[in-house]
Amino acid sequence: MKIALFGSPGVGKGTYAAKLEAIYHMPHIATGDLFRAEIKQQTELGKKAKEYIDKGALVPDEITTGMLKNRLDKEDCQNGFLLDGFPRTVKQAEALEGITTLDAIINYFADDEVIIQRLSGRRLCKKDGSIYHITNVPPKQENICDKCSGELYQRDDDKPEAIKERLEVYRTQTKPVLEYYE
Ligand code: ADP
Repeated sequence: MKIALFGSPGVGKGTYAAKLEAIYHMPHIATGDLFRAEIKQQTELGKKAKEYIDKGALVPDEITTGMLKNRLDKEDCQNGFLLDGFPRTVKQAEALEGITTLDAIINYFADDEVIIQRLSGRRLCKKDGSIYHITNVPPKQENICDKCSGELYQRDDDKPEAIKERLEVYRTQTKPVLEYYE
């Protein structure tokens, strides 16, 4: 199955994807994770993407689509995948048609106040990317990943100004993707 998880930032796509990945053994392809890996490795693509990500803006479609195509072309994606965070614009949805055909889209929904509470308390593991929340899903030991003992950190774009911008970007640029598929 080729499935895309859809919904606002912080709605829980990454958390559900990790659970689904463990049950169905499908690769979890998150464009946000791909960008964070490029930033960590200080590649040209990573440097360019960081300028947009830190502001809470979307990375331009051509950069994002090219990066995603490279990933989906790999062997492990040939029988299916869970796409998380793509497509995020109608242009990306159109470009995806030229790369592959989705079997399903799952749309997640939560109220804005819940989203803001989730995003502002979210913490990630520096080593394996596991997702926690300071009160909803706290690690056993403060700031330490349960699975690999890596240090937890808060993403720059999970700070209040960037959260506001990301929710606005979702409303104006990403929500129309639902109508496109409907
Ligand atoms: P969240 O779903 O919590 O916003 P992600 O990890 O999916 O977080 O994305 C982090 C950032 O990476 C986004 O705010 C955006 O800047 C960039 N990004 C991720 N996916 C895309 C995409 N499909 N198109 C453009 N930018 C993207």
